Amino acid sequence: MDWMIRRGARCAALLVALALASCGGDDADDVLPADAGSGGDGAVSDAARDATTPDAAAPTGHDFLLPWTGGVAFTVTQGHNTGSHVGLSSWAWDFGMAIGTPVRAAHDGTVRLARGDSRTGGCDSAFSADANHVVVDRGDGLESVYLHLDSTSMRVGQPVRRGDIVGLSGETGWACGAHLHFQIQRSPAGGGGQSRFNQTVPESFHDTGQPLDPAPGTRPVSANAR
Ligand SMILES: [Zn+2]
Repeated sequence: MDWMIRRGARCAALLVALALASCGGDDADDVLPADAGSGGDGAVSDAARDATTPDAAAPTGHDFLLPWTGGVAFTVTQGHNTGSHVGLSSWAWDFGMAIGTPVRAAHDGTVRLARGDSRTGGCDSAFSADANHVVVDRGDGLESVYLHLDSTSMRVGQPVRRGDIVGLSGETGWACGAHLHFQIQRSPAGGGGQSRFNQTVPESFHDTGQPLDPAPGTRPVSANAR
């Protein structure tokens, strides 16, 4: 019963945050309460916050597509440099997404990390280590992270093509409601470490044919796997 009550509270928080985001326009970053709605994604130490800043020299212009089925839109519930998206995750996006939604690879690559056995999550940093996730290495120094998954059948070392289903979305780990946390980061070969979280870099999606960095409150439409 406690679990159900907590889920209800989290859903209420998500609805509030979505309402704020939809009213906030370009200023949604300022009104989204930290960690409400989109949730935290990993414990970020003070040292990490201080040591990691956006890197303007990071490679750009890649062929990333939004990580879900083409023709479908999801709302950006948290953008960059706000809430839990600081430090290593400064350039992440959160997309409000019902549990069980197919999550698709944003690019070709190879699975570097995969976990799908967690059934635990909640709106507290204490759940950080419980997130199911997949990390796909591009082989060019960058990789993508798909976090809070409900499940995944991916295995480490498995080749992935853009559009492949890497898992189903969920709310495992530190999540204040169901959503997909997605980020592009440096791979170990690109200067990152071996953990699931490395320094994110500024990137764009190319579903419209033009680079798009969707802002909080907007609902970008995927052209992936159409
Ligand atoms: Zn996030």
